[in-house]
Amino acid sequence: MSGNITFTIIKPGAVAHEHIGDILKMISEAGFWTAAMKYVKLSPGQASYFYDVHRGKPFFDGLVDFMTSGPILVAILERENAVEAYRKLIGNTDPAKAEPGTIRKLFAESIQRNAVHGSDSDINARKEADFFFSKSERFDRHGNFLELVP
Ligand code: UDP
Ligand code: MG
Repeated sequence: MSGNITFTIIKPGAVAHEHIGDILKMISEAGFWTAAMKYVKLSPGQASYFYDVHRGKPFFDGLVDFMTSGPILVAILERENAVEAYRKLIGNTDPAKAEPGTIRKLFAESIQRNAVHGSDSDINARKEADFFFSKSERFDRHGNFLELVP
């Protein structure tokens, strides 16, 4: 299964340690177009909703605390086979298990403070993109509004 977009977050730790530039460079060099991008600071309600699938797990409260601890950079990335290609670029959730050269291997501080989020499916990429960006805030490589399918 392939889709044309994925959604990413540069998490508070990586923002605070000024890794945004290095991470965006890796994203660009891997062939992704940044279709939308902005800074936001999540409320506890927004962070809980975003990670709803993990509610009740032992790491959930700590994750919400971390994700609301400072500004994050959110972005929509466009590329062929975007979801799978981006998960490969970021590496394993646990930086100890991530491949050398992946974003998480290079910039994660721990399994919780693991530098970036990447969508796990085309459906979730679309949901996450729609949660943060309106239709008039996303653009293709030619400067036209990005059409998301379906
Ligand atoms: N996480 C954590 N402890 C764990 C597993 C996950 O703090 O044992 C955090 C981590 O920040 C991770 C996020 O919860 O990125 C979502 O977990 P998921 O399993 O969905 O990993 P991902 O899809 O981000 O690789
Ligand atoms: Mg996940």
